[in-house]
Amino acid sequence: MNGKSVKLAVLKGDGIGPEVVQSAVEILRFAAERNSLSLELVELKIGLEAYKLFGRTFPPETLEGMKLCDGWILGPLSAGSYPKDDQDYPMASGKIRKEFDLFANIRPIKSLARGLNKNIDLVIVRENTEDFYPDRNLFKGYSEFWPNEDTVLSLRVITRKACARIAEAAFRLASSRSGKKLVTAVHKSNVLIEGDGLFLEEVRKAARNFPEIRLNDGLVDSVAMQLVTSPQSFDIIVTTNMFGDILSDVAAGSAGGLGLAPSLNSGEKYAMAQAVHGSAPDIAGKGIANPTAEILSVAMLLKWLHSKIGNESARDTAGDIERATYEVLDSTESAALTVDLGGEANTKRFTREILDRLGKLV
Ligand code: ATP
Repeated sequence: MNGKSVKLAVLKGDGIGPEVVQSAVEILRFAAERNSLSLELVELKIGLEAYKLFGRTFPPETLEGMKLCDGWILGPLSAGSYPKDDQDYPMASGKIRKEFDLFANIRPIKSLARGLNKNIDLVIVRENTEDFYPDRNLFKGYSEFWPNEDTVLSLRVITRKACARIAEAAFRLASSRSGKKLVTAVHKSNVLIEGDGLFLEEVRKAARNFPEIRLNDGLVDSVAMQLVTSPQSFDIIVTTNMFGDILSDVAAGSAGGLGLAPSLNSGEKYAMAQAVHGSAPDIAGKGIANPTAEILSVAMLLKWLHSKIGNESARDTAGDIERATYEVLDSTESAALTVDLGGEANTKRFTREILDRLGKLV
């Protein structure tokens, strides 16, 4: 990473990916210019578009190109619809997380726009490299086994190292936020006695280095309910991979919908902006997707770059993107909001609203 210049890869993905990524990139370019952030964007092919061009969904050229960038912007991937002869089965997303050791998936959930619940401000810190995910939890191979026609075995992997570093990431985040200074460890240790027992042991160990942060814990089923009935009581939730994946959709639904939920996949060296939502095939190509999640994911990536390389223009660009986006989401005008928020705007109109606000920020 060199001085003030930032090089980012843009991977549009499938379904609504190209629509939301284009919106996020337009906003990024505009905000970067306002803040004199020197930015180079490189488009790399992934997903069904890459399959059409190269016969595979995650070509080696894309992987190599990613290594030359400071960070990546990824749209959603619809792996479920990939052709059976794709060599990159089952999904690039898992490969990227494994290849670049993006062990922490940070998913902030805030009440924005016309959500069901007001005043939610929590972050789900999800372990990203192991647990039940068969595409990434082995050094080599895929950890679902089909020993006979009527039986499938799925392997869950929990390691001390992964638990320790995700716990540390959660406490660091709790400590840096002006929130409730509370970490809630979510598990199912009454059933997954050994694996989640180990997870809890490591979370408790990490807690000792952060005496100013309170530690609570809860069973995943109970926390799922509380994310609907009293989501305001949470600050940071730290959990294993699959629980984190499911709980972030529950929390996003509680706060206002999947179109609003951003996320960052981060490791020691790299980070990737990627909205929580999937490729939403039901609305793909209609031009009505809400790009907020992708836009705010890009802002998270810029903040991460600031923390890594001290690039203040990246931090200011992120701040502007967030302010302008929140202003539009606070709007009571239906014409400015996307359909999923009960508004009438399409993706382009919503993007233009944010660009207008960006131009007016002081
Ligand atoms: P995939 O198979 O890629 O996970 P999916 O449709 O099963 O796709 P999501 O893409 O997460 O899962 O979508 C779940 C629901 O939320 C869909 O009805 C979709 O239209 C809606 N949705 C998701 N993202 C957005 C968005 N950005 N804007 C508007 N609606 C969205």
